Amino acid sequence: APENRYAVIGNPIEHSRSPFIHQQFGRQTGIALHYERILAPLDDFTGTVEQFFAGGGRGLNVTLPFKEAACALAAEHLSDRAQLAGAVNTLWMAGGRLHGCNTDGVGLLSDIRRLGVTLAGRKVLLLGAGGAAKGVLLPLLQARCAQLHIANRSAERAHELHKRTISLAPRRAERLSAGALDAIAGQWDVVINATSSSLGGGTLNLPDTLYAPGALAYDMMYGAQDTPFLRQARAHGASVLADGLGMLVGQAAASFAIWHRVQPKIEPVLAALRQQLQHT
Ligand code: NDP
Repeated sequence: APENRYAVIGNPIEHSRSPFIHQQFGRQTGIALHYERILAPLDDFTGTVEQFFAGGGRGLNVTLPFKEAACALAAEHLSDRAQLAGAVNTLWMAGGRLHGCNTDGVGLLSDIRRLGVTLAGRKVLLLGAGGAAKGVLLPLLQARCAQLHIANRSAERAHELHKRTISLAPRRAERLSAGALDAIAGQWDVVINATSSSLGGGTLNLPDTLYAPGALAYDMMYGAQDTPFLRQARAHGASVLADGLGMLVGQAAASFAIWHRVQPKIEPVLAALRQQLQHT
């Protein structure tokens, strides 16, 4: 087996961009690595992971539908972020034990920084309460935003996430609120779409006064730069618009840094990936 083996594991997996991204990072930093795709059977994620590490594998990225299962597997050694998210996208062995982290939030933060937007002191609206929203919640709070409101179609799910976050980060409780998607009020500096609404091509029913002057509209969806959410945001006066491709590269960069202890540059790989997507 080749040395320095890494992989992304999921089902389905053939469309994953992670091998491309990590190979680019390896080239950029001069680290020789093998990074493959592993299709895990739906009923044997655990066995597939164990086999990978027993065979000398160094690290795994985990994608749908196994992020929760990965969290359970690494339950003894989880980062706070992974614990709150209840989901793990990065696995590695240390001292003979499986460790897990969730780097989606760091990926989002680094992309927002790249766009030149500051979160500290700003009003942030997070749309959605599914896996993607959970993964970014704690890092957003830690970026010292003035207010963070979780709005979800099912309000109950937003309230549950709110409660869970407060129990894990009680000091941040006063800055956090939650409610229904159709009850959003006020103006926001940063609006992040972590719903899967753009995938279906539909728009969310949002007030046209949502965006404060200079606001950022961020759609976690990637693959198309002009999503229904971003088209609506532009019509509603948002100033900075971004799709989720930078977050995808950012979460990969954070995984890379955990495994190799080197922080790769995001920008050139994002440009290469953008170009590749336009030609496929
Ligand atoms: P989940 O299935 O876990 O959650 C879906 C969320 O979307 C729920 O909050 C759901 O609300 C909401 N939703 C779905 N359809 C609608 C609709 N028509 N109107 C209003 N709300 C809707 O999905 P994930 O959280 O895993 O993924 C969400 C998105 O984020 C996807 O597009 C995914 O590709 C993207 N993503 C991007 C990443 C990146 O690196 N850029 C990383 C991770 C995810 P309800 O609870 O009411 O059902």
